[in-house]
Amino acid sequence: MEYKIKTVGVLTSGGDAPGMNAAVRAVTRAAIVNGMRVKAIFRGYKGLIDGEVQEFTTQDVSGIIQRGGTILKSARCEEFKTPEGRKKAYETLVREEIDALIVIGGDGTFTGARNLAQEYNVTVIGVPATIDNDLWGTDSTIGYDTALNTIMDCVDKLRDTGTSHERVFVVEVMGRDAGFLTLNAAIASGAEAAIIPEKATIAEQIDEALGQGRRKHKNSAIVLVQEHAIEGGANKVAEMIEQAHPDYGTRVTILGHLQRGGIPTAADRILASRLGCHAILSLLDEQRSIMIGMQNGNIAYVPLAQAIKQKKDIGTDRWNALHMLSI
Ligand code: ADP
Repeated sequence: MEYKIKTVGVLTSGGDAPGMNAAVRAVTRAAIVNGMRVKAIFRGYKGLIDGEVQEFTTQDVSGIIQRGGTILKSARCEEFKTPEGRKKAYETLVREEIDALIVIGGDGTFTGARNLAQEYNVTVIGVPATIDNDLWGTDSTIGYDTALNTIMDCVDKLRDTGTSHERVFVVEVMGRDAGFLTLNAAIASGAEAAIIPEKATIAEQIDEALGQGRRKHKNSAIVLVQEHAIEGGANKVAEMIEQAHPDYGTRVTILGHLQRGGIPTAADRILASRLGCHAILSLLDEQRSIMIGMQNGNIAYVPLAQAIKQKKDIGTDRWNALHMLSI
């Protein structure tokens, strides 16, 4: 059977996320199994502009499913945000005879891909990979589960010392504009509070978390703070807690890039493998400008424009659970 798409290009871009390698492996192998050639593009859009392209065989993706980071490297590329940059990128696609581009990344990566598709009628497919889980149209993104587990492990360790010294630990968590990582890590680690941008004012959240009489019997607490919930992040929150409760000793921990690394969990490897395979299957289906999402355990094709534009709702169920359980 003759397919229209003969060669696919694949790249990883934006913030790296554990499980990106599993997605690269899946895209590569599914493409080859379905009779396509695969060209790996290194360093995201920068490599696309500079022509850093190498043909991949199935062996090139051997032994990578368990590795964090991305063997294709990632980069942030300002030039791709300009029409001139995207023109150069398009010229690479033409020169390398790449008929479809699979981009593994987050919101910014998809925005770039959509712009390229609009300007040059290129077929692009997005595979969602970001620890922030902030893309609309997919229940989870590649890397999110691993990051959650990493944060939970760190908070477990902090709690040991927190209870020994009767302190309030204020822990800063990544997440860009979204509180998914912070809220879910707070539930998983039994934290007293999660301070996230989606919910009430920060002062109210601190009060709610620490100030109520029914919680007074507690002599230590863990408060998780989404990095952009408040200017100054965890340091600012610690300052506010000390002002409101001068008797509490606070300590700040900023988890930072620890959260991006590590061996991907089984859930992330399986998600990456399924999404990567379906990126190729969607091409056989003549799809374009879509993100491959996972909704209620099923693969979903989501228009890229929607995945980028719509904001994923954090809901109230988890928020309520955290508050019920943190007394
Ligand atoms: P993520 O994909 O994880 O959200 P970024 O926001 O850093 O990461 O975006 C990754 C890359 O995507 C950027 O470095 C840039 O090359 C490209 N990009 C982001 N926004 C745009 C845009 N508006 N137009 C074109 N390219 C963009």
